[in-house]
Amino acid sequence: MTYYPGRAVVDLDAIAANVGWLRECAPTAQVMAVVKGDAYGHGLVPAARAALRGGATWLGAAQVPEALALRAAGITAPVLTWLYGPGAPLTEVLRSDIDISAPAPWALAEIADAARTTGRTARLHVKVDTGLGRGGSFLDTWTEMLGEAMRLQAEGLVRLVGVWSHLARADEVDHPSVREQLAVFTEAVHRAENAGATLEVRHLANSAATISLPEVHYDLVRPGIAVYGLSPMPVTHPSPQVGLTPAMRLEADLHVVKSAAPGQGVSYGHTYTTSYPTTLATVPLGYADGIPRRASNAAPVQVAGQQVRIAGRVCMDQFVLDVRELPVAAGDTAVLFGSGSQGEPTAQDWADAVGGISYEIVTQIGPRVPRVYTGQGAV
Ligand SMILES: *Cc1c(COP(=O)(O)O)cnc(C)c1O
Repeated sequence: MTYYPGRAVVDLDAIAANVGWLRECAPTAQVMAVVKGDAYGHGLVPAARAALRGGATWLGAAQVPEALALRAAGITAPVLTWLYGPGAPLTEVLRSDIDISAPAPWALAEIADAARTTGRTARLHVKVDTGLGRGGSFLDTWTEMLGEAMRLQAEGLVRLVGVWSHLARADEVDHPSVREQLAVFTEAVHRAENAGATLEVRHLANSAATISLPEVHYDLVRPGIAVYGLSPMPVTHPSPQVGLTPAMRLEADLHVVKSAAPGQGVSYGHTYTTSYPTTLATVPLGYADGIPRRASNAAPVQVAGQQVRIAGRVCMDQFVLDVRELPVAAGDTAVLFGSGSQGEPTAQDWADAVGGISYEIVTQIGPRVPRVYTGQGAV
């Protein structure tokens, strides 16, 4: 049973074109399309294939199961996985030819164990914390990490192919922390090469850095959000102006459309009250579908070609629109967000309305909402 009254329509051609545009931003680097979080809610495997079609040569999956799912789907492109805890199934990672990050000394030990168990040589990317203060080794323990990695390489257990890091404030124009992180990264790479590593890929750039900081492109850039057509810098680099096309359109079929008198309270808590004779229309998606409850009385939705604000609280499965005189009927399509090309709101508009970022808007759309694909490769 695949019926559902709402759907996320994902334009695979937009994903491919966005990757093509990112390649032009970083002409000297390869592109790793980051497909974590179920490809930011767009659907892991279809989005990954579209990104590869657009010219990405690597895929980045934060969680190990996501990386394994890419292989299970028959995708053979290089994949890097980086987020796991002690006890992760690293033997499966190595048997699946997935590159692995070492964010801490304990991980190096577990990678070496998995290499012994499988008889495989792990392709290793050692992560340096250049200032984000999250994963990776700070420079004070970096030389030890490298020493251990090179010792394991001499044993044939690993091959140190990558040194990588992540930026804290790449989305802030000219922020001095970028230069500071770059200096630490340069030093980290230098020490790795001095330790005898022959690095295939040095990588540091997220979407923001891919778009606006050529000096940090190195051999490989790792855009995520921009692959899906959303800008990490919506004020200085809005999607349509820079040439990105938002790939996801979230829509639903209107459920109940009925006349209401003035003074009618709407939805839980009656936080909205009609002030004129009007028409109320219910949209059958709610916070169980990932619609933020903070969108209550705030986020815009398009019906009958017009944008109206959500009236009252977002419920678990539905919310209400006060559509006044708009000509709507049950079954008509409400567009919560899309590319914006038809006058509909965008995920960025939703982020602005709820005080969040576009990343959360698309990534939080729940598994209950079917993904429907358009464009080349759609099934
Ligand atoms: C999520 C992530 C990216 C992509 O970031 P965007 O801002 O979506 O481009 C790149 N690298 C790492 C390590 C990440 O976790």
